[in-house]
Amino acid sequence: KIEKDKRELAKQHGMVRREVSGGEIAEEMEKERRTFQLNMCEYLIKVNEIKTKKGIDLLQNHIKHCSSQLNFFQECLNTTAKLKQFTEKLIPELQSMKIRQDEEKKQLCSLRDQLKTVLQLEQKEDPGNKQAGYTMHQLQGNKQYGTERSGTLFKKSDGLRKVWQKRKCTISHGYLTISHSMPNRPPAKLNLLTCQVKLNMDDKKCFDLVSHNRTYRFLAEDEQDCVAWVSVLSNSKEEALNMVFSKAQGGGESSQQELTQAIIQEVRGMPGNRECCDCSAPDPTWLSINLGILICIECSGIHREMGVHLSRIQSLSLDKLATSELLLARNISNSGFNSIMEANLPSFSLKPTVHSDMAFRKKFIISKYVEKKYAKRQPAAPCSSLPEAVKDKDIFSLLQAYAENVDLSEPVLAPLQEPGETILHLAVLLADRTSLHIVDFLVQNSRSLAKQTAEGNTPLHYCCSHNKPECLKLLLKAKANITITNEAGETALDVARRMRHPLCEELLLQAQNNQFNPNVHVEYEWWLGQDDMHESDEDLDEKVRS
Ligand SMILES: [Zn+2]
Repeated sequence: KIEKDKRELAKQHGMVRREVSGGEIAEEMEKERRTFQLNMCEYLIKVNEIKTKKGIDLLQNHIKHCSSQLNFFQECLNTTAKLKQFTEKLIPELQSMKIRQDEEKKQLCSLRDQLKTVLQLEQKEDPGNKQAGYTMHQLQGNKQYGTERSGTLFKKSDGLRKVWQKRKCTISHGYLTISHSMPNRPPAKLNLLTCQVKLNMDDKKCFDLVSHNRTYRFLAEDEQDCVAWVSVLSNSKEEALNMVFSKAQGGGESSQQELTQAIIQEVRGMPGNRECCDCSAPDPTWLSINLGILICIECSGIHREMGVHLSRIQSLSLDKLATSELLLARNISNSGFNSIMEANLPSFSLKPTVHSDMAFRKKFIISKYVEKKYAKRQPAAPCSSLPEAVKDKDIFSLLQAYAENVDLSEPVLAPLQEPGETILHLAVLLADRTSLHIVDFLVQNSRSLAKQTAEGNTPLHYCCSHNKPECLKLLLKAKANITITNEAGETALDVARRMRHPLCEELLLQAQNNQFNPNVHVEYEWWLGQDDMHESDEDLDEKVRS
């Protein structure tokens, strides 16, 4: 019925479907069957391949691996067998060696015991002999007798008659004084450092003192007295020796180091120096030598990045500083520096704190030091007042000019000696023990080391013609060019020689031979322990506000 309906439907749509014959169906079926068989075959081939790969190939590879391992173990076995032969040979050899060594040890031990008993016998026979035993060191005195003694001793005369003469003897401060029998004759004084004390083996009351040119033999009252004298002589000698050594080790250099440490202490106590000049971190330990300020380790990194022409950083605690590096620190201080360099800081929020990140710090430090953005501005042009600042040793006026980017290497209007002098020339001419920091500020920050006067003289020439060795040290430290000649064709060294200034000559020769030590100490009035030298923090704050 459904078939009928379908046919009806097809007729209605005008589609006439041809009846399919039985033969055609059989043919179609056959085709389908063959295709299926082909696919089946291909499928089975694939299955076969997979099985082979999974099983046979894997096993074959495994067998290869096993056989190679077998070979390896076989070789190991062979090697071990050889090793066994060796060890078997070695065992008896070692045994015989051990026997021989035991034999030797036995012989040595018996020899030692023999020697020991002999020695013990000797010592029992002569117990007093111990002191005279072989010793690498000086005779050690009994410390309880101290280093000073005075009393009478008998001294064997040095004449032909060899008699015992009674003498008053005194040991003190490394010397033995033997008074003369005649009171008007001066006593003999022996330096114990150049003497040897020796106990007398034959007479327990005697001892010898061997000096560089003769041997004194002394006789004490009794044995105990003799021990006391010998001990005090040894102790006094040791004391003198220690004194000499401590002096040799200390000497000039240690006093310079002590001075440097004292200055550093003073610098740490200066206004504002308990905090980093840039970020206020507590206890800054890095010093900008050319600016005379203390900064923390974080900020010091940025200062280094800016370059040594702007800030020259050294550690107060790690670097071995010389006094020449502390001239500006002793005179400027963080508060003094910021009273100029941060006078126009529009807001404290711009200033970094301990917690500020590097980018913020860097921005501030570049603005402060490179662009000098926050520096105090002076209404009048400061150029004309610069020579006055040098004469007045006014470091802050120089810093003010520096802050305003004034060219500090310009010739001054009223030179003292030759036209074309810079303020550095002037500072050298006027330099003394109290103004070296002015010279140092200009040496490090004015860029006028090579400036020549009309007669061709550099500040270096001025040092040599006016005998200013301390200024010369600062110039050489800053690597001033020593080969520049003046109009007369003279270098600074030539001038020093002509003027007979040996200190300047010596320093220049050192520089010429690359032997000048930049870690140099300078003679300067440091005003240590004088608090009124600088203003208190409050005073400087007042200054900033006004
Ligand atoms: Zn800092």
